[in-house]
Amino acid sequence: MLIVNFHEHPGYYAEENCRIYGIHKAVLLPVGNEMVGKAIEMAEKEPDKYIPFDWFDKDRPIEEELERIKNNINRHGIKGIKFQPMDQHIFPDDKRLYSLYELCQENGLVVTWHAGIVKLGFKYENGVPMLARYCDPLGFDQVAFDFPKLKICIAHLGGNYIYTALVLAEKHENIYLDTAFLTFFAPRFFPPVTVEDMIAHAVSVAGADKILYGCEGVTPEHVINSKISDTDKEKILGLNAVKLLGLQK
Ligand SMILES: [Zn+2]
Repeated sequence: MLIVNFHEHPGYYAEENCRIYGIHKAVLLPVGNEMVGKAIEMAEKEPDKYIPFDWFDKDRPIEEELERIKNNINRHGIKGIKFQPMDQHIFPDDKRLYSLYELCQENGLVVTWHAGIVKLGFKYENGVPMLARYCDPLGFDQVAFDFPKLKICIAHLGGNYIYTALVLAEKHENIYLDTAFLTFFAPRFFPPVTVEDMIAHAVSVAGADKILYGCEGVTPEHVINSKISDTDKEKILGLNAVKLLGLQK
């Protein structure tokens, strides 16, 4: 069965996760400008294995950022943009992002947006408070109306905002969810749940076509052991990603 990890970061762990879990392909999500080069470099070395995403720097002039990203689409085949809103201090429906969404929609790029309160030990990022509300994906309701063809992926099934994320994916054709890092969120619910419960529940609400396997502690076994059909397991573990990214199987 083809296994695509839709949520990986460039670096050592990407290779290790592929090896340990038998992952065939991984989407490399840079967190910060300095990781973009690494994602591209890894993908150029092993193009059948790695799919590079880009990063958006809101502190650079927007026109320059759009040019840079266009160049990376054409020269390096980047397939999406990763957002880490609690570090970037932005909300999904921030109008400053609209020209970027336009570019992504036109070029079929995926926007992967971190959701869920994490990094509990870090209170500040560059002197600015890391507010939990940046991790709430609700703003994508408006974005999905404004960009109906934009491919949106809310990470971590929305984390603690799972209810919001699931109804958004149920409501909008173009909103998807990844399963990364559920091992962090599952025990924090009341009552605590398992990763397998979260996956099965996501399938029952949003449908298996909307769920993408992401690792960060979540293994293919978690998906395989969830109470969902074999067809749904195949979709989540790889087929949905192939379709969304237009990959060769
Ligand atoms: Zn991540």
